[in-house]
Amino acid sequence: MQTYSSFIPKTRTLMGPGPSDVSERVLHALSRPTLGHLDPDFISLMDETKSLLQYAFKTDNALTMPLSAPGSAGMEAMFVNLLEPGDKVIVCINGVFGNRMKENAKRVGAEVICIDDPWGEQTKPEKLERALRQHPDTKAVAFVHAETSTGVRNDAKTLCQIAKSFNCLTIVDAVTSLAGIELCVDEWHIDAIYSGTQKCLSCVPGLAPISFSEHAVQTIQKRKSPVQSWFLDMNLIVGYWGEGQKRAYHHTAPVNSIYALHESLVMLAQEGLENSCQRHASMHQHLKTGLESLGLEMAVDEAYRLPQLNAVKIPEGIDDVQVRSRLLNEYDLEIGAGLGELAGKVWRIGLMGYACKQKNVDYCIQSLGRVLNR
Ligand SMILES: *Cc1c(COP(=O)(O)O)cnc(C)c1O
Repeated sequence: MQTYSSFIPKTRTLMGPGPSDVSERVLHALSRPTLGHLDPDFISLMDETKSLLQYAFKTDNALTMPLSAPGSAGMEAMFVNLLEPGDKVIVCINGVFGNRMKENAKRVGAEVICIDDPWGEQTKPEKLERALRQHPDTKAVAFVHAETSTGVRNDAKTLCQIAKSFNCLTIVDAVTSLAGIELCVDEWHIDAIYSGTQKCLSCVPGLAPISFSEHAVQTIQKRKSPVQSWFLDMNLIVGYWGEGQKRAYHHTAPVNSIYALHESLVMLAQEGLENSCQRHASMHQHLKTGLESLGLEMAVDEAYRLPQLNAVKIPEGIDDVQVRSRLLNEYDLEIGAGLGELAGKVWRIGLMGYACKQKNVDYCIQSLGRVLNR
């Protein structure tokens, strides 16, 4: 029989679109002894994790918690809970993740109206306004705040303002934006939002922080048809993650992953949300200066460029795959490839969470300079 041995991963520097580098503090938290998932001590930790997430999302929403599944499940939870067959939803698309939102909405049987904008550009608010005038019976508007596939920030505040003036629910993907750029769930009137743990929170992958407004909660409670997904049905999940010490078993929470998320949120609270966003902005400036010194060009307009996800144009005559594999093999440095329409045209350099620091910026510029012979 073949012999097996432990898997010891190399220590890489993760500067792609996620996962980002996980700190020693978070890794230590992950390795603490597992508690029973209904142990009173674990329930207290669940409560504290919920209030830390309220801090990170800037919300008072009672229904704020991590789903026991990755960001994609967070996305699916929005659509399966808030929409019923025949409901009208507008989805703004300017990258891969907007397209996935459309796919989710279609699968719940909703009537989907798409607002398409070119990849690498912002969703145009006037297009949303026009579509809402044409479809005043729209129930919800969905868009991606930070489009990781292109490095574009959509104007969440304005898009929500428009959606609200037509009495729509707002559904927002904040997987890459949370803790990296300004995000105000209550102030901007976001009704339903999801994120991921492996981007600017720098926690291990596999959890999806989510939050629903009172309006969204009522919409879910008043559904005529049951939520098609048993696992993602919020009406059932609240019995497990809800208020008070009385919790009913729904599934077994990934106990150690919650330790890790809690630790990463404590780190965020200790640094301060505003300081975290400030750090992402200033490290982005350093990275941009370094890339330009190598003769490289940013792919996204400065006005709506994400600091935590830098799309960089691949120069003429440079072999995309060879550069990325040399960075990985010779420098243990991971950067991201272009996705979809942008495959082969851009690199995506992440500066997320714990990976967003001067040492990494310098290392990335040095390594890229050597590989490119510049
Ligand atoms: C990474 C990402 C997701 C998906 O998250 P997973 O944890 O990979 O499922 C969704 N939306 C955006 C904008 C992302 O960057």
